[in-house]
Amino acid sequence: MERNQITIGSKIAVRKAGKIIPKVIRVIDGQGKPNFPKTCPSCEQATQLQAGGTEEMLELICANQDCPAQNISSLCYFLATFGVLGLGESRVTQLFESGLVTQPADFYQLDIDTTMKSGLTRRQATLAVAAIQMIPAPDKLTNEVLEEAILSAFQTKKEVPLWQLFASFGIESASKSAGKALAAHFGSFQKIRTASIEQLELVDDIGSITANAIREFFETHQAEIDALLEFVKPTALVSDGKLSGLTFCFSGGFPEGKKHWEKEVESRGGKCVSGVSKKTNYLIAGPGSGSKSEKATRLDIPILTTQQLSEMF
Ligand SMILES: [Zn+2]
Repeated sequence: MERNQITIGSKIAVRKAGKIIPKVIRVIDGQGKPNFPKTCPSCEQATQLQAGGTEEMLELICANQDCPAQNISSLCYFLATFGVLGLGESRVTQLFESGLVTQPADFYQLDIDTTMKSGLTRRQATLAVAAIQMIPAPDKLTNEVLEEAILSAFQTKKEVPLWQLFASFGIESASKSAGKALAAHFGSFQKIRTASIEQLELVDDIGSITANAIREFFETHQAEIDALLEFVKPTALVSDGKLSGLTFCFSGGFPEGKKHWEKEVESRGGKCVSGVSKKTNYLIAGPGSGSKSEKATRLDIPILTTQQLSEMF
C-alpha cells in the first residue's frame, strides 16, 4: 500500500498469484497516502512501519513487548507448533485475561479446578486441559475418563522433537526449517541454547541476522525456557532410523494431513524439506501436487505415493 500509494477508495487491478494472495498489478484510480492505524488496537501504543522479511516489504507492527494481543498470538503459535489441537484463540484469550496463562509453561500447570477460575464450565475446563495434555479426541470421552487420563498425563514430561520445541518459540525468521537444521547440527537443546553467534552461523541456512535473533532470544527468555523444561523433554533426531540420511518432500493433499506423514518420516530418522532440490531423495505426492511433481520429474527424483512410502517403514 505504501509503495503503490493505495488508500481508502483506490481502484486497483489485482491478479491471483502464488496460492491465494492477490498481487497488485497497478492502481487504476485514486492514489493517496495509505491510512494505517496509528495505534495498536490492543495496547494503544504507537504503531511502526518497518522493513520486513524481503527487501521491498514493509510491515506495520506494534513493538510493545507486553502487548496483550501479541502475547496471546504467541501463546497460540506455541500451541499450534506443539501440535495441541482444540484450544482456539478465544480460549487462550480467556486463560490469558484471567491471568492463568502468561507464558507457555503455565499451560502445563493447569488442572481442571484452576482452569475453571477463568469462567469455564467443568466440561469446558476438562476439555481444555485434555487438549493441552494432548489426549486424542477428548470430546468423545466422558469427564470421568478424561480426568483419569489427565492425571496420568501429569505424571510424565511431554516428549517433543527438539526442532519443534525450538520452532515453538516463534523467533523471527527462525522457525521450522531452522529448528531442524539446528537439531541436526547440535543434537541437543542444551547445545543450541548455549551456542555462540559464531557457532550458530556455522549451521546451514542460519545467517548472521538469524543467529543474533536466536542468541538474543535465549538470553532474554532464560526463566521462561527453564520453566517450560520442567514439563517438556526435547528429544533429538533419530540418527539410526530406517530413513536416516534420506530427504523427503511432500506435495499435494493428504487425508491424514501432511504433518502426520512428516512425523512418521522424522520418527524414522528421515528429513523433511519444503522444496524439491537436487538434495531431495523422494517426493511424496498426493492429489493436487503440481509444480513440485514437475520439478521432481525434471531432476529425476522418484515420486512416491504414501502407500509406497509406508512400505519403506
Ligand atoms: Zn500492541
